[in-house]
Amino acid sequence: MSVNDAAIRVDGQIPKVPLKTLEEHNEERRPQPRDLLTGIACPECGVEVLESFPGTMLMSMPPQMQIHCPECDWRGVCLA
Ligand SMILES: [Zn+2]
Repeated sequence: MSVNDAAIRVDGQIPKVPLKTLEEHNEERRPQPRDLLTGIACPECGVEVLESFPGTMLMSMPPQMQIHCPECDWRGVCLA
């Protein structure tokens, strides 16, 4: 059973949910500074590396994302 199945009631009507404003939606989706953190230590200096382009990934197989070190400017990729 998928989320879509659950959203439709037995009578076939889609229940009305309170709508949020465009501003509220955008505020929720806006990338936060903590989203950049990867939890990965820089192989050069040990500082936590950051996502270089948050929300994007390289369409390799498997997908990878570009990361960089804010301290020593090391750059690389990790599996997304
Ligand atoms: Zn570094």
